[in-house]
Amino acid sequence: MTAPAFVTSGSTALTSGLTHAAGTSVHRPRSARRPPCPRFTMSASRKFLVGGNWKCNLTKAAISDLVSAFNAASPLDPTAVEVVIAPPAIYLDSTRQILRDDFAISAQNVWVSAGGAYTGELDATMISDVGGDWTILGHSERRHHPVLKESDATIAEKAKYALETAGLNVMYCIGELLEERQSGNTVAVCERQLAALAATVSDWSKIVIAYEPVWAIGTGEVATPEQAEEVHFAVRKWLEKNVGKGVAEATRILYGGSVSPANCEELAKKGNIDGFLVGGASMQPSFLEIVDSYKTAMAATV
Ligand code: PEP
Repeated sequence: MTAPAFVTSGSTALTSGLTHAAGTSVHRPRSARRPPCPRFTMSASRKFLVGGNWKCNLTKAAISDLVSAFNAASPLDPTAVEVVIAPPAIYLDSTRQILRDDFAISAQNVWVSAGGAYTGELDATMISDVGGDWTILGHSERRHHPVLKESDATIAEKAKYALETAGLNVMYCIGELLEERQSGNTVAVCERQLAALAATVSDWSKIVIAYEPVWAIGTGEVATPEQAEEVHFAVRKWLEKNVGKGVAEATRILYGGSVSPANCEELAKKGNIDGFLVGGASMQPSFLEIVDSYKTAMAATV
């Protein structure tokens, strides 16, 4: 995908950035920039979370090597950071058995309801049965792939069952397509996706939002920290208005889209970025450097 040229600050980042020539970013002078979103800052109550989405990749042998590298690293500070790994479903159980206990396990998708005659699907209770605590839902590859085309309503229904019946935590992905950003609809798209969830569930304590601009996923084209922060702030404002102030303050909003060891620290400094959902870079031992960016996030809040 051609790298989109976005302005890097202020609300224009959400609307008019793509009117600029391809390959150019418009940097306003510092003095002209809008001040950082003022009403929400990183809260000590929002523990940094880094998810690794292995998608439909890796083999049993490759997982064994990667897990060995993860297991060799120092223990996490459980008060400061959480790590969640989402292997392909067929490897979920075996990965749980070899992966260190302080890394949680997630599914990448589940069925809308209880199991039964649904060939090829996974009941969310099966995830907890093999030691998984999470599921990703609404990933853009499931929302937009022509074979899948999952609707907002379907994803919300899956979230309800996973949360309320299976007791899983849910990483609920939202985010705009390139053309939706180009037409100034970034926030409207995210709000529509959030509204479907809010209409279906009432307890937000096990929900984490992952803002993943589709144009940034797997493309190497990461959102600038300002672009990501601006949407995260809008999401938090929407939660405050439509769900409640407490939920807005407490809900973690992850950024996802070409996060790497090279760019994670600058993103982690933003007050409304509470962690990352990482695809490609989560399949390397250097994923641990992204996990470590929680230290940068903490330092940025003091
Ligand atoms: C993802 O799969 O959710 C993702 C963000 O992928 P990548 O980090 O490879 O862009």
